[in-house]
Amino acid sequence: MGRRAHGDSAYSGAVTFVIPLLEQTPEQLRDWFVREGFPAYRAGQVRKWVFQKLADGFDAMTDLPVELRRTLAERFAVWTTQIVRREVAADGTEKLLLALGDGQRIECVLLRDDKDRHTACISTQVGCAMGCAFCATGLDGVVRNLSSGEILEQLLRLQRIRQEHAEGRTAVLNVVVMGMGEPLLNLDALLPALATACDRNGLGLSERRITISTVGLPDGIRRLAAERCQYHLAVSLHAPDDELRNRLVPANRKFGVAGVLAAADAYFERTGRRVTFEYVLLAGVNDQPDHARRLVGLLRGRPSLVNLILYNPVPGLPYRTPSPEQVARFVEIAEQGGLNVVIRHRKGDRINAACGQLRRGTAEG
Ligand code: SAH
Ligand code: SF4
Repeated sequence: MGRRAHGDSAYSGAVTFVIPLLEQTPEQLRDWFVREGFPAYRAGQVRKWVFQKLADGFDAMTDLPVELRRTLAERFAVWTTQIVRREVAADGTEKLLLALGDGQRIECVLLRDDKDRHTACISTQVGCAMGCAFCATGLDGVVRNLSSGEILEQLLRLQRIRQEHAEGRTAVLNVVVMGMGEPLLNLDALLPALATACDRNGLGLSERRITISTVGLPDGIRRLAAERCQYHLAVSLHAPDDELRNRLVPANRKFGVAGVLAAADAYFERTGRRVTFEYVLLAGVNDQPDHARRLVGLLRGRPSLVNLILYNPVPGLPYRTPSPEQVARFVEIAEQGGLNVVIRHRKGDRINAACGQLRRGTAEG
C-alpha cells in the first residue's frame, strides 16, 4: 500500500510512493538508509523515536540532520490512520475510532484496569466473517485484513494516550487482541506486528502479557502453537455443546467443540500456557444451571480458566445481559465443579465499548 507523495510533479512523470513506516521491518528500513547513502544506524534512531519516544512525526526527531528529516517526511508516513473519534468513559476507558488510508474504520480501546495496569484492546480485521449471532462486528461480514502496520499503529496510538498522562512509567500494559476481527485469520500480519511490539527496540512489551482471542479455529491455534511463542490464548467457547454453539458461533459447524478443545489442549502442551475459555453470558440462552453443569463436564481436569463475560447488548440484536442472580448461580455451579472462573465486568459501557459498536454507530457518519 502506498499513496502518492505530496510533492509529485505531474510533469516529471515520476511517481514516488509514500512508504508506511510501520510496515517496514528493521532490516528493510536499514536497507533503505544504506541504499539512499545514509548511515545504517540512522534506521535505529528513527525506530527509537517512533516506538520508544512515541514521536508524532519526523520533525520531532531532533538528533537527525534537518535535511534527512525532510527527506524522510517526503518518503515515509509514520501514521496511516486518522482519529475520527475519541471517547472517554467515566471509568477511564478510552476508545478510538480510526479511519484507515482507504477510509475503512476500526476501533481500539485503552482500559484502565487500575493505576498499575492498563489493557490495550486492538483489532485485526475490518469487520469479521465469523458471524457470531450476538456480535456487532460480525453483522456486516469482513471487508479486509488489517496490515501489520495498521495493527501496530493502534498500539502506538494507545501508548501515546498513556504518554499524555505520563502513565507509561507507572502502569504496565497488557494487550488483548479482542477488537474487531478474527485474529487467527490474519496471522501473517498479526505475528510481525506483535513481534515488533515485543521487540526490545520496539515497544518492549512482554509476550506473556499479550492475549490472542479466537473463535477457536483449530488450524490457526496449531499454527500459533508451532511458533513457540508465549502469547496467552483465549478461546471464545460460549456454549457447552455443538447444538447451541453451532447457533451462536456458526464457524463451529466446521470443526465442533471437540475440535476446538483438542487444538486448545495442543496449545497448552506446546507452550505450557493455560488456555482461557471465554463465555459470554446471554440471558435465557446459555446461562442456565444446566449449561453451567455441562460446561463443568467439558472443562473439568483441563488446566484452564473460564472468563465469563457479561453481554454488552447490541442495538437490533435480541440478546440480553443476565441478572446478577443468574450470573452468581452460574459461577457457583462452575466453581463447585472445580473450574477456575473470573467474571469480566463491562467497562466503558457508555461509549459502546463492545467490539464493533462504535464503528456501526458511525457507519454513515
Ligand atoms: N474474534 C475473536 C476476537 C474478537 S471478539 C473472538 O471471537 O474471540 C472478543 C470477545 O468479545 C469474544 O469472546 C466475543 O465473543 C466477545 N463479544 C463479542 N460481542 C460481544 C458483546 N456484545 N458483549 C460482550 N462480549 C462480546
Ligand atoms: Fe468475529 Fe469474534 Fe465477533 Fe465472532 S465474536 S463475529 S469471531 S469478532
